[in-house]
Amino acid sequence: MRVNKLNLTFSSLPENVTIARTLVSTLGAQLDLPINELEELKVAVSEAVSNSIIHGYSNNPNNFVTIEIESSSEKIQIQVVDHGCGIEDVKQAMQASFSTDPDRMGLGFIFMQSFMDELHVESTLNSGTKVIMTKYLNHSHPSSH
Ligand code: ATP
Ligand code: MG
Repeated sequence: MRVNKLNLTFSSLPENVTIARTLVSTLGAQLDLPINELEELKVAVSEAVSNSIIHGYSNNPNNFVTIEIESSSEKIQIQVVDHGCGIEDVKQAMQASFSTDPDRMGLGFIFMQSFMDELHVESTLNSGTKVIMTKYLNHSHPSSH
């Protein structure tokens, strides 16, 4: 099977959220993802990258976020990796409306979960966080017959 791999490491600057989103969007378009699913993919990636910058690195711009994308005709898998503060309790962090910042909605993980087919979060306190998201392309979704 033909697999395409792309890795991008960028400074933890807010303007790079748009760059990550654009990269993923271009890839999704090449794979003929319907426009609504393309929009959802962009939101999921934006949420994960924003979390790394805002929470992982407390908005300190002198750090790096990596996104690793692997795509084929079957699926798009995206990993968003930071080496920031990590998450103390991943299960709690993924609950709707949970946020460590009272000014935020606590909906980022909910968007990622609902817009992607699979979501896994690996995190170690004071070491970093890896969010692994998978979107199956419609014709090859495991649950479709
Ligand atoms: P919103 O996304 O709605 O602006 P939020 O970012 O607080 O609010 P989520 O994206 O669901 O909500 O994340 C929930 C919580 O998980 C965050 O408040 C934060 O404490 C923690 N978190 C998420 N991603 C990371 C990360 N990369 N590093 C450290 N903590 C994180
Ligand atoms: Mg968030």
